[in-house]
Amino acid sequence: MWRAAYHRNKERKEVLKNLSTPPQSPDQGDHPEQPSQPRSSRQRLVARKKYRTEKNKLKRQIAELQEKLEKERKSKEKYKKRCQQEKEIDKKGEKATVKVTVKKSVEGTQEHLIELFQSFVKKFKMHHFNIKQQYAFCHELKNNMSGQEALIHVDFSENYSCKYSSQVQVVHFGASHQQATLHTGVLYVGGLSEPVCFSTISPSRHKGPPAIWQHLNPVLDYLQGQHPQVSVVHFLSDGPCTQYKQRGNLYFFTTELDRRGFKAGSWNFFEASHGKGAPDGVGGALKRAADMMVAKVHDIPDAEELFRALSETNTSVKLFFVKSEDVEEAMEKMPKQIPAVPGTMRIHQVVTVAPGELMVRVVSCMCTTRKQFNCKCFNTKCFTFGQKIETAVSQTGSGGNPEKEIQWESPELIGKWCILRYDDDLYPGIILNIQTTQVQYDILWYLFDDVLELIPPPQAVTKRHVEVLKEVWNRLTR
Ligand SMILES: [Zn+2]
Repeated sequence: MWRAAYHRNKERKEVLKNLSTPPQSPDQGDHPEQPSQPRSSRQRLVARKKYRTEKNKLKRQIAELQEKLEKERKSKEKYKKRCQQEKEIDKKGEKATVKVTVKKSVEGTQEHLIELFQSFVKKFKMHHFNIKQQYAFCHELKNNMSGQEALIHVDFSENYSCKYSSQVQVVHFGASHQQATLHTGVLYVGGLSEPVCFSTISPSRHKGPPAIWQHLNPVLDYLQGQHPQVSVVHFLSDGPCTQYKQRGNLYFFTTELDRRGFKAGSWNFFEASHGKGAPDGVGGALKRAADMMVAKVHDIPDAEELFRALSETNTSVKLFFVKSEDVEEAMEKMPKQIPAVPGTMRIHQVVTVAPGELMVRVVSCMCTTRKQFNCKCFNTKCFTFGQKIETAVSQTGSGGNPEKEIQWESPELIGKWCILRYDDDLYPGIILNIQTTQVQYDILWYLFDDVLELIPPPQAVTKRHVEVLKEVWNRLTR
């Protein structure tokens, strides 16, 4: 028994003697309270100290990084946003404002940026759908028109400044230049392969609804004279809210077509900034021809001479002259109180089958190309001039309340207070300027849909503070 114990002891001593100092186990350093095995103590102490400092250093680094991360998360981040601003410039002593698009640093969190992006994507998709649908409709209509249908694509061309072949300097400066208004277009009649290009020329510079219809009159006369079988007329134009997409124009559209004995008509608007087409080409060709004549010593001092000179060329463009007095007279005769068509900005098609009555759609419906004018597609709304009648239940856009619908074409809008949505928060503001697709407010530009409604001017609470009427604010923030 003692022998066996002696041998075991001897063996153990032998093993220990043969072993060199074992490498420091990290485990041991971690638990210094545990009784450690006998080691070479100096080496062990050094290693343990080194380990401890390393560990502390790492801990410190981790804490620092975490702190930084938290700071980053909490702090507002900045991103660049494209904004339009008005800038005052000094132009030879005169103050002038120009619009500049600038990239601005805007504060906000990444979440806000993502939300903003998503809201833009939504608007962009709507815009893109409208562009595609309007072009598809235009194409389909041209291909499917029957002999009883005609399509008129119109646009105002940029005014032509009349010129003298050799002019004294005095004419060049100042207001001596006369201008001619050119209303150009292309007329397609169903069954005929060749469209007719036309242009009306007028010294009158008005482009409002009465002027539009004075320019359209000779064209419609021509159409009815040449093609008496036509009973349905479609119009195609771009949609700036100051010209064709105005309540006055829509009113004339429903009444004039009926007066001329057409059974039905549709007016189709291209999506904003996507309506360039054949009429621009007609205008360009005419102006080039006129400039050529001026170069060949032919004076074109006014609209009358422009019309006469162009008529003498062998142009294929049908030319008509619209007298200034006729435009003035039409403007005077125009009814003063024409009710506004709700949601004019979103409209891309209006259809009429009876005088004073409109069917309004946000995009042009293909049913129209199949002579079905009464379809209810795309949430069609009915509207009657004279008395407002809403038949279809409105569901579009910002509530679609016709009473609260903002009439963007109205010039009285500038200077009015409104409530608008920005990043899901509501802000009151003053409308400074309006363009075809957006509204200017507080030097930034906003899309129409972001402006919720007009509000009465806020009341002064203290000398420096104003407050939006409580009931308005409560209703909108609900
Ligand atoms: Zn339809």
